[in-house]
Amino acid sequence: MDTLRFEVAVIGGGEAGIAAAVKAAELGARVCMIESSPQLGGACVATGTLPSKTFSISAGMFESVKKARNFGVRIEGAVSLDFAEVVVSRNRLMKCDIGVIHSHLRTHKVELISGRAAFAAPDRLRLTKADGTAVEIESPRTIIASGSHPVSLPVLPVDGTTVITTDEIVSLTASPRRVVIVGAGIIGCEYAFIFRTFGAEVNLIEKTGHVLLGQDKDLVAAIEKELKRRGIAFHPGTTVVSCEAPPEGGRRLVLEDGTAFEADLVLACVGRKASTNGLGLEAAGVSLGRRGEIIVDDMLETTSGGIYAAGDVIARRMQSSTAILEGAVAAENALGGSRTIDERFVPGGIYTQPEIGSVGLTEDEAVEQGILHVIGVCSYAGLVKACSLQSFNPGFIKMLFERNSHKLIGAHILGTESAEIIHNLVVAMRVGATAEDFIYSIYHHPSLSEGFRDAARDALSKL
Ligand SMILES: Cc1cc2nc3c(=O)[nH]c(=O)nc-3n(C[C@H](O)[C@H](O)[C@H](O)COP(=O)(O)OP(=O)(O)OC[C@H]3O[C@@H](n4cnc5c(N)ncnc54)[C@H](O)[C@@H]3O)c2cc1C
Repeated sequence: MDTLRFEVAVIGGGEAGIAAAVKAAELGARVCMIESSPQLGGACVATGTLPSKTFSISAGMFESVKKARNFGVRIEGAVSLDFAEVVVSRNRLMKCDIGVIHSHLRTHKVELISGRAAFAAPDRLRLTKADGTAVEIESPRTIIASGSHPVSLPVLPVDGTTVITTDEIVSLTASPRRVVIVGAGIIGCEYAFIFRTFGAEVNLIEKTGHVLLGQDKDLVAAIEKELKRRGIAFHPGTTVVSCEAPPEGGRRLVLEDGTAFEADLVLACVGRKASTNGLGLEAAGVSLGRRGEIIVDDMLETTSGGIYAAGDVIARRMQSSTAILEGAVAAENALGGSRTIDERFVPGGIYTQPEIGSVGLTEDEAVEQGILHVIGVCSYAGLVKACSLQSFNPGFIKMLFERNSHKLIGAHILGTESAEIIHNLVVAMRVGATAEDFIYSIYHHPSLSEGFRDAARDALSKL
């Protein structure tokens, strides 16, 4: 068996692995990245972030075109959705992103090895390459970035065509007519809006009392109202007790209270679990936590010295955005750094319609932590730019300021471009900006960001 030697070995070619490999190479190390799938990019490219965002963009575009008349744009004939073209546009974006990844790895001279890696010892990996040959990789430092996979429910056995998870959604060839989505977290809600805009009848089932667990209560209330307005049937506080395949096709689902639906597609969005099977973690001395995630310290080092982990496999935020930073930080620390990640400033972006952008504490968290605060709100209806962009969608900017210092401690935005403009507030929070900083800054007019000034004014007016 051949032995290859590297200074850093990275397991997994998703966002975390790519970021780790590139950073380690930038720092001068000889690096290999091992990926078991024929395609690079992991869940972000293949099944998660990009596919769902391209669907979301098509849905948003479809909706905007239908409203074009209100902006003086006349479209002759009926506006319809061509799902085959939606898939083409999604595949184009995926291909483009994979091309960018390959070029990035080539530029940084990261050696890409195809195969499934497992530890034979803390400093040794074994793998069978795609061509069937076995190799051993010796490396004093390894970064595990093996990602996560969707959880399924025993009552909803996944068959890949009628009962699916987000892993199979990329294989859809037609937009379903009747969809049941189980789980109203971020992913379930995003797909509920997408399929509804595509024209489907959508039932959204959630075992807790509300959508989007953990988000600020005003965002939750606004999204629940919007689900209703758009005709998405939301069933909180219940779960599926049976899912049968009737002879006429599709599925018949029954909820705890006896409510029954027929569906052409059942999408289970009930969470994701760290992928650690077959990694040989025992041989490396790497320990797992309660939820099956790899345990790491603040510097992303596992319980085995020299082995780091990043991305979904450590089950912190489980976002591409954080996976990228974690990968780079793990690489830096593996090569002698001592960087930590400040979790207070991680932005959230949810691509519902309207979309959501958030950072920092929710109102409930501020109360629970006993932080005296004041809240300022600006409605999108009061912003000329928001009215000109999407006069029919609701929206607001809610900002929380610490009562004495007036420092921004949290922000929650519902509305057009909110996942984009939230980054201004991420930086503002990082540098300790106060309500006065927002009030005396100059904003382009008309812009959505003017809402920061108006929300800050609203907050100070309450003191
Ligand atoms: C529907 C959906 C929508 C999402 N939308 C967003 C969004 O809008 N914004 C956002 O920030 N995040 C989003 N996410 C989350 C995001 O996709 C993930 O957090 C991110 O892809 C995790 O990256 P990762 O590198 O940790 O893991 P992964 O992307 O899972 O990559 C892990 C890689 O490791 C490989 N691998 C595993 N084991 C081995 C082994 N033993 N040997 C070799 N290779 C191995 C796998 O094949 C895979 O390619 C979404 C997720 C889903 C499911």
